[in-house]
Amino acid sequence: MTVALFDLKRQYQSLENEITGAIREVLAGGEYILGRRVQMLEEQVAAYCGARYGVGVASGTDALFLSLAACGVGRGDEVITTPFTFFATAGAISRTGAIPVFADIDPRTFNIDPEKIEARITGRTRAVVPVHIFGQMADMDAILEIAGKYGLAVIEDACQAIGSENKGRKAGSLGLAGCFSFFPAKNLGCCGDGGMIVTSNEKLAARIRSLRAHGSSKKFFHETIGCNSRLDEIQAAVLLVKLKYLEKWLNRRAALAGLYSSLLKGAVVTPFVAPGNRHTYHLYVIRTPRREAVKRHLEKNGVSCGLYYPLPLHLQPAYQWLGYRKGDFPEAEKASEELLAIPLYPELTRAEVERIALLVRQGVQS
Ligand SMILES: *Cc1c(COP(=O)(O)O)cnc(C)c1O
Repeated sequence: MTVALFDLKRQYQSLENEITGAIREVLAGGEYILGRRVQMLEEQVAAYCGARYGVGVASGTDALFLSLAACGVGRGDEVITTPFTFFATAGAISRTGAIPVFADIDPRTFNIDPEKIEARITGRTRAVVPVHIFGQMADMDAILEIAGKYGLAVIEDACQAIGSENKGRKAGSLGLAGCFSFFPAKNLGCCGDGGMIVTSNEKLAARIRSLRAHGSSKKFFHETIGCNSRLDEIQAAVLLVKLKYLEKWLNRRAALAGLYSSLLKGAVVTPFVAPGNRHTYHLYVIRTPRREAVKRHLEKNGVSCGLYYPLPLHLQPAYQWLGYRKGDFPEAEKASEELLAIPLYPELTRAEVERIALLVRQGVQS
C-alpha cells in the first residue's frame, strides 16, 4: 500500500467529466480573466462564509497582502501574527513594508495565544493576523476584544480553514477581512494558483478590487498604484464545480479524523478541538516526541507524511534581521519538533486510515 500525504488525482477522477466540461466552456467562451464565473464564485464564496463581498485574486498570499495594503498598512507599521504558520503570512506583511511581530501559540490548538498578543502591542501596531492553523479557528472573540481595545484591524488568514466555524460563525467572516487560498492541496483547491478575500466592509472590498487591477476602478484611470492579481475564469469554473461538494468533503474529513483519533488514542496526542469549534482538518496533525521514529516507520511502509512546520518563522534565515533567538517562542519551537501530519482527505478509505493508524502505533513503539 502506498498513500500520499495529498492525492489530488483521486478527487479529479471522481469529478473528471464535470471539471473538463466546465473548462471547455470557458475555452469556447473566450472570456478568460475576471469574467462572470469569477463574479459568481465571489458571490457564492462570500455567501458561504457569511460575508457580504468576495474579491478573487491570484493567490492566498496576495489575498493577505492586498487586504493589509487596503487597510493602509505599510512602512513603519507593525503587524502581530503567529510564528507557527506557512511563510506567506509573514511574507505578505513584509511586502507591505510593515514588520511582522510574533506572539507565541497555544500548545493545544497551535493557534496564536491571545494572551500573548497584548504584550507585543506598541504605538506602531496596526493590525493582527490570526491564522486558523490546520483548519481550526483561532480564539477570535479574545483576539477581536484586544484588537477593539487598541483600534487594530484584524485580517484572518483563513487559507487553511474554508468552512471552519466557531460558535456557528464561519472563518473569514469575523475579522475586517478573511483571506483564502485555492492552492490545489487546500480543502477547496483549483488547478493552479488562486485566492479570495471576503469582507462585509464595502469600502475595503472596493479598495481591494481596485488594487488587484493596478489601482484602477475605471479602465485606464488609476487612483493608486496597485498590482496585477486576478483570478482566472478557468480556475473559477473549476472552483464553482468543487464548491458544491465542499460541505460533503469537510464532513468526510471530520469523520475520518474522528476515526484516526479513536484509533490513536493513548499512543500520540491527537488534535484538540476547542469548545465551539468546527475543525475542518486541512491537515490531520499528531504530536509525539517519537516523531522521527514514526515518520521513518510510515515512510518505510509507503505512507508519506509531512512536517508542518519544521522551522518557526522567527528562526527563518529570511527573518534573522528581526533579531529573534531560539527560546523566544518556546511553544512554537516545541511544536516544530513534535508535530507530524499524516494523510487525510475525503477520498481516503476507512481501511487506509486503519492501516496508517496501526503503522503510527508501531512507529511510536519502535
Ligand atoms: C496556503 C497558505 C497561504 C498562501 O496561500 P497561496 O495560495 O499558496 O499563496 C497563506 N497562509 C497559510 C496559512 C497557508 O496555508
